[in-house]
Amino acid sequence: MIDLHCHILHGIDDGAQTIEDSLHMAKQAVHEGIHTIVATPHHQNGKYMNEKNDIVHGVLVLNDYLLQENIPLTILPGQESRIYGEILTDYRSGKILTLNQTDKYIFIELPSSQVPQFTERLLYDIQAEGLIPIIVHPERNSRLIEEPDILYNLVNKGAMTQITASSLTGRFGKKIKKFSIDLIYANLTHIIASDAHNVSGRNFHMQEASEFIASECGMDTLYMFYENAEAIINGQACFKDTPDKVKKKKFLGIF
Ligand code: FE
Repeated sequence: MIDLHCHILHGIDDGAQTIEDSLHMAKQAVHEGIHTIVATPHHQNGKYMNEKNDIVHGVLVLNDYLLQENIPLTILPGQESRIYGEILTDYRSGKILTLNQTDKYIFIELPSSQVPQFTERLLYDIQAEGLIPIIVHPERNSRLIEEPDILYNLVNKGAMTQITASSLTGRFGKKIKKFSIDLIYANLTHIIASDAHNVSGRNFHMQEASEFIASECGMDTLYMFYENAEAIINGQACFKDTPDKVKKKKFLGIF
């Protein structure tokens, strides 16, 4: 398995704090059947700044440790950038990292409870630059949960999305789990990744989520997620089904 979203580089965000933490995470990843991880430290989220060169260096260092420790895992460079107006200027000046440096896919994180006004325009501009924006964990954005048509519109206009393994396994509650399933059925998500931060509360859960997807949505959906992850690290085109709107079910009865 490939994990496209993980805070495994130590000491630069709220993920691994020490190299020992990174190695614990690496061992856990291998245990779950993950052979490749894209390290995606936070950038521009109001707390952490991690520019391209620092991440690339961190990945080299961690791969050296993995080799020394005989852990069969490869780390590739990536970045989880919060949406901000100057992202393209910073991309052009070499501060922004595409996933595995293929100049094709870029992670975009929205704030947790809103979708900024300029989102649609910026995602358009990113595509005009020749990149494909991937919105990370849309299932955890409270505005999108309330108004899924906003996400439908963004996906319909070319954005991709990544849902979190542990959202599907219920770590973030029933509402987020249900919305994650809704997004899969509406073809509004294209990748699953762990967003792991550690080996305790924010663990990988990729194996468990894979089993859940296989039984809930079928093997075809699971394979689509796996193949898209591979296409992304190779800078190739992903499989995308025509997006639908999430149907809002009215709850009946007395609570
Ligand atoms: Fe993350």
